[in-house]
Amino acid sequence: MSPQIDEKLETMYQEVLKRNPGEVEFHQAVAEVLESLNPVISKHPEYLERKIIERICEPERQIIFRVPWQDDNGQVHINRGFRVEFNSALGPYKGGLRFHPSVYLGIIKFLGFEQIFKNSLTGMPIGGGKGGSDFDPKGKSDDEIMRFCQSFMTELYRHLGEHTDVPAGDIGVGGREIGYMFGQYKRITNRWEAGVLTGKGLKWGGSLVRPEATGYGATFFINEALKVRKESFAGKTCLVSGSGNVAIYTVEKIHQLGGKCIACSDSNGVIVHEKGLDVELIKQLKEVERRRIKDYADYHKDAKYIANGNIWDIPCQVAMPSATQNEINGKDAKTLVKNGCIAVGEGANMPTTPEGIKVFLDAKIAYGPGKAANAGGVATSALEMQQNAQRDSWSFDFTEKKLEGIMVGIHQLCHDTAEEYGAPGNYVVGANIAGFIKVADAMVAHGLV
Ligand code: GLU
Repeated sequence: MSPQIDEKLETMYQEVLKRNPGEVEFHQAVAEVLESLNPVISKHPEYLERKIIERICEPERQIIFRVPWQDDNGQVHINRGFRVEFNSALGPYKGGLRFHPSVYLGIIKFLGFEQIFKNSLTGMPIGGGKGGSDFDPKGKSDDEIMRFCQSFMTELYRHLGEHTDVPAGDIGVGGREIGYMFGQYKRITNRWEAGVLTGKGLKWGGSLVRPEATGYGATFFINEALKVRKESFAGKTCLVSGSGNVAIYTVEKIHQLGGKCIACSDSNGVIVHEKGLDVELIKQLKEVERRRIKDYADYHKDAKYIANGNIWDIPCQVAMPSATQNEINGKDAKTLVKNGCIAVGEGANMPTTPEGIKVFLDAKIAYGPGKAANAGGVATSALEMQQNAQRDSWSFDFTEKKLEGIMVGIHQLCHDTAEEYGAPGNYVVGANIAGFIKVADAMVAHGLV
């Protein structure tokens, strides 16, 4: 960790390394939070006495299970399923499920750990958890996806409940997968329990704005950060990496606010469309037809596809990394700053490496870390839970206004907390401290559990 870190925190970090060997993404997520906590532990000796930090770094429960399934040719496959129930101080475990071949315990633990603080920042009553599988949905038929989801839920169901643990989507898990899992949960438990999963379809307990929420929320957050600098999205050239759920609705909201997104990507390459991305086409290609972003260029002759390109080499004023972890390294961050980027809003979880974060903070650009900037997704999941509890459903405008209010609130909280702790403009410090204190105080109140 960085040299100015308190000795006690360094010892705790070394212990995390020792207890969780090889889980590099989890180490990275813990280091980022602990590095912010120096000024907190000197003000709050009770956190040290009650070993709050050591307890926060240890998940309350970790579930790893076998997921057997058959493909369309009758071949048997075995994947590994995970659910890490990290912290329930503020509410039932809440966090998505990720289906991607890169998934292993270290990825789920980094995501679950970040989720604790993100969920705390939303101000809603939700604890932190995450799950998923190393299953690769790419190229699978609809029936194969269904059989996998059913097998996954056949083990997971026993750990869930609207007051216990409430999963949602993440990379590789959207409305279709949530539907198959909800169906299997209902079948096994004989309960139509809407509050057990979020991201549901609109006709069976889902919330309007949930699909848009992470992208819209990240844009609202950066809009607030721009306002602090007497700036706005109007006329700004923007980059949005990825082309999944988060990226699509980030592009849409930026365009509504007058900005121009000129590029997006997938793991194969980058699409550049100087005129501004055609978001309806991306929706059709990715959400309906499940195709690759390369095909965009077939519909717009003035768009350019760069196979294996690096989106961060394209000059922009606002960058919204919305693909995956560690997609911006130190070199990319330097390129962005050199090219005149004034704001970075993380729609993805931990998309910037520690070297990259340092570049953004040193350059004093508006840098919104994921746990603050992308909290709109899970916040709207909590709004879905509210609607389910009331057996009600709210209008689009009402729900979007609530989301916007939550994001404005998160921005304000991170902004004010950073100032209070002597790091004005540093949303990393603001988010980590504000997110941590609420959880820590609840843990102190609950006693040694
Ligand atoms: N996977 C999303 C996240 O990273 C959403 C989780 C949820 O809605 O529970 O926050």
